[in-house]
Amino acid sequence: MSITPLMPVYPRCGVRPVRGDNCHLIDEDGTRYLDFAAGIAVNLLGHSHPGLIGAIQEQAGTLMHVSNLYGSPQGEALAQRLVDATFADTVFFTNSGAEAVECAIKTARAYHQAGGNEERFELITFKNAFHGRTMATISASNQDKMHKGFNPLLPGFRYVEFDDLEGAKAAVGPNIAGFLVEPVQGEGGIRVASQAFMRGLRDLADEHDLMLVLDEVQCGVARTGTLYAHEQFGIEPDVMATAKGIGGGFPLGACLATEKAARGMTFGTHGSTYGGNPLAMAAGQAVMEEVANDAFLAAVREKGERLRSRLEQFIGNYPDLFEEVRGLGLMLGLKMKVEPRPFMQHLRDDHQLLTVAAGDHTLRLLPPLVIGDAEMDEFIEKLSAGAAAYRVPEPA
Ligand SMILES: *Cc1c(COP(=O)(O)O)cnc(C)c1O
Repeated sequence: MSITPLMPVYPRCGVRPVRGDNCHLIDEDGTRYLDFAAGIAVNLLGHSHPGLIGAIQEQAGTLMHVSNLYGSPQGEALAQRLVDATFADTVFFTNSGAEAVECAIKTARAYHQAGGNEERFELITFKNAFHGRTMATISASNQDKMHKGFNPLLPGFRYVEFDDLEGAKAAVGPNIAGFLVEPVQGEGGIRVASQAFMRGLRDLADEHDLMLVLDEVQCGVARTGTLYAHEQFGIEPDVMATAKGIGGGFPLGACLATEKAARGMTFGTHGSTYGGNPLAMAAGQAVMEEVANDAFLAAVREKGERLRSRLEQFIGNYPDLFEEVRGLGLMLGLKMKVEPRPFMQHLRDDHQLLTVAAGDHTLRLLPPLVIGDAEMDEFIEKLSAGAAAYRVPEPA
């Protein structure tokens, strides 16, 4: 037998972390890495946050899981907290981002079907988007590499160029249910939508009674310096998927909706065995406790600006490697003039700095939101040493 016990769908690298220490990961051989990947925008409180650990430990010792057949004081409390802090009136808890997007897709379709408009089931989505790996969420993306081997895709998605309002407008027709969009594309390369695009989608949705569905799985939960990124565009969605950071490392996601948008989500229409269980709710509460306040959000914005200006200064020294710095808050990307993946590997293996490659020749920088001056200095040091020593590999 040659297949590995772990299904070989990930080309895993040689870093094998066994312990976390705030913004660092420690490998099984003892090597310390500075973690500017944070589990891909998940560990926003770092790796050993006492509040998060304590909340999970306490809940695990009290009540870990009960079925959604029973009343949920823990679920009600976190849902209320999210409702109070956002545009939403109601929340469905999931265990992952893809499930949160699935619920959002179902909510948008059900809105129209509950209104007697069965023909309105198509969502306009945007090129190079990433919405997850379930059948519906890969179908929502135009990326062939995620489709290969899994056809047929689910019908009901129409792809338009990201940030192209005219294209989105032209795609609106009698079968369209709404738009599904990341305000800041993560996997696609830290591409920030323009204000005009996001506001234009909101206007189109209002004009044609369409659902504006946001995927804030990566850009949400304080990452960009506001609790949710859309706040910086002066718009509110009808439906929104959140996950990644919201559990701080515990698997948790949620689909948030307005009362109007959720009109089709009635008894028996949707469910999840684990979704919203007490252990997950404890983790979500601990994260919200830390991040959902003005002081924390202002600090993310301040650190984001400082990191960005240091990066802008830094890339000036390497005009052959880097094109620009982009992003919002602590969701930053270095657009490169060379392949980002080998550079990411070089930073990791030779400088013990973890980052994430993304689409559009971009290196993603997604530090824990709790980074301090020391981590920022260490980051710039490692990145500078890495860039100075880097030799672009010959094309194979
Ligand atoms: C990661 C991600 C998802 C999928 O989340 P999973 O927890 O991996 O299912 C969906 N949308 C966006 C924007 C993401 O970054």
